[in-house]
Amino acid sequence: MYDIVIIGGGPAGLSAALYAGRAKKKTLVIEKDLAGGQMVTTSKIENLPGAADQPSEVAERMRAQAESFGSEFLMAQVTHLDLQADPKVIQTSQGAFEARAVILATGANPRHLGLPGEEQFIGRGLGFCASCDGAFFFGRPIYVVGGGDSAFGESLFLANLSDQVTILYRGDRPRAAKDLQDRVAQNPHIRLVLNTEVVEVWGDQALSGMVYENKKTGEKTKVEGDFGLFVYIGMAPNTSLVQGQLDLEKGYILAGEDTKTSLPLVYAAGDVRTKGIRQVVTAISDGAVAAIQATRELDRRA
Ligand code: NDP
Repeated sequence: MYDIVIIGGGPAGLSAALYAGRAKKKTLVIEKDLAGGQMVTTSKIENLPGAADQPSEVAERMRAQAESFGSEFLMAQVTHLDLQADPKVIQTSQGAFEARAVILATGANPRHLGLPGEEQFIGRGLGFCASCDGAFFFGRPIYVVGGGDSAFGESLFLANLSDQVTILYRGDRPRAAKDLQDRVAQNPHIRLVLNTEVVEVWGDQALSGMVYENKKTGEKTKVEGDFGLFVYIGMAPNTSLVQGQLDLEKGYILAGEDTKTSLPLVYAAGDVRTKGIRQVVTAISDGAVAAIQATRELDRRA
């Protein structure tokens, strides 16, 4: 029996683990992959104050810090949650656990384009993680879809690997941070194509062709051969485990800045929560808030 089980080992979960451990609560973090969540799928962190390191090193330090205060970590897939039970029950690929409080820090997954055939090319020419797969396309044409921080930030990383990086953005006013937009505009290896969407992808074993279309003029451009396609069109929250148990809004767990959800002793932290700004720092903040709220409520009920 744990006081607090944290589901998800990204920045929100790791921060919650640090605060819960320091509060001397018996704490378990369950994460299906390595610690760090989305953060470790980026090539570089520039806007986490005090940390200008490789994302994986930052994540490892966060985890070690939480462990030093007694928080435990388990690598497992959570398969089922009963959040209404008292205590709450967490079923995983490594067995079942009970907890008096649960912090959901399950984050979000990259959205797919939704094109026929797309799924078969994932990891075979089409990817969602430039720092993981970018090197496969060294010196080759690389296309990046999206107009947000991810698309622009990762294009700058990819421009170190290829001098033919093209950003395809569906609108004409990308929402990426101004600094990133300026750096993209100044980078001779990156071309920005506006008002454009990928409308078709094809290939045999791997992606070998696509068509993108200018939505204003209707002009279609065919790309064929050995190229990479990275898709950064936003995130979809990981909430399948809590469907029907918690109030959601547009797929995200409905919770305010206090991270409290529609059930007592259940908190939502980081990208999975309804919030305006999704950054590593705001996820870290959420994790701290959730752990403090859980601790206070557990102490009040003790
Ligand atoms: P965003 O949701 O910010 O941007 C998604 C982009 O994809 C938008 O330009 C959107 O276009 C476009 N898009 C959405 N759907 C489609 C589609 N079906 N076809 C084509 N284009 C589409 O996602 P990000 O992953 O960039 O960022 C997610 C969050 O993480 C943001 O809060 C961001 O600030 C944060 N982040 C921060 C970083 C940092 O601080 N260094 C790094 C990376 C992410 P449109 O604009 O027309 O809607």
